[in-house]
Amino acid sequence: QPVVQFDNVTKSYGKHVAVENLNLSIEAGKFVTLLGPSGCGKSTSLRMLGGFEMPNSGRILLGGKDVTRVPPNKRNVNIVFQDYALFPHMSVAKNIAFGLELKGLDNQQIHRRVSELLELVQLQDYAKRLPSELSGGQRQRVALMRALAPDPDVLLLDEPLSALDAKLRQQMQIELKSIQEKTGKTFMFVTHDQEEALTMSDTIVVMNKGKIEQMGDPNTLYGRP
Ligand code: ADP
Ligand code: ADP
Repeated sequence: QPVVQFDNVTKSYGKHVAVENLNLSIEAGKFVTLLGPSGCGKSTSLRMLGGFEMPNSGRILLGGKDVTRVPPNKRNVNIVFQDYALFPHMSVAKNIAFGLELKGLDNQQIHRRVSELLELVQLQDYAKRLPSELSGGQRQRVALMRALAPDPDVLLLDEPLSALDAKLRQQMQIELKSIQEKTGKTFMFVTHDQEEALTMSDTIVVMNKGKIEQMGDPNTLYGRP
């Protein structure tokens, strides 16, 4: 069973069709990238999958369940944006623990999970620091761990690297891919940058004008491994 499924999904804003008859099926544990020019409907697709917006027609299934029928606090999906805004007055550990506290995990469970995530990005020594005391790359890692903490079925990433300088961006691409592989989570990443898509993806979904043009692995699409 696919972890994500779009069945004939259409979304319009007034007369403007942002996403048109989208059909997409995604296997669990893959790094999937929606690639296409600005305005082609990538973010809209991601926001609908996250349950932040309703399709006009069609159906979106996450883990086999219709996302529009799952109440917001039960949705097993998380999103990371470019302006990942950590809670500035909370420690790194507290930022990561936040979603776990909401879920009602006990202190011991939270501590174990936070340790595991800090270790994953080698920030064990930064647990008590405030976001303002971290570098840009470290903050981004914390934002990722905060989003991964509650173990979502899918992690949605809406151009999370686009504000970074070229060097850090390249480094974070490699790290993101490595985190995805280590955790085995399904990542759905959005970018307009083909190079970025090629570096990280198992599957690239090429979109244009609200539709899927092509879909496949980087090698099949662009002759790159
Ligand atoms: P992308 O992520 O590929 O840049 P979007 O999904 O953000 O594209 O947008 C797809 C189209 O829908 C664009 O033409 C955009 O202007 C339009 N659109 C997106 N969100 C809204 C909105 N909230 N209101 C009106 N139009 C929107
Ligand atoms: P507070 O004092 O408000 O609880 P802390 O930053 O001490 O804030 O901790 C927030 C959460 O993160 C707590 O659930 C705590 O168990 C956990 N935590 C704190 N430090 C660590 C750490 N080094 N490793 C793992 N979990 C931690």
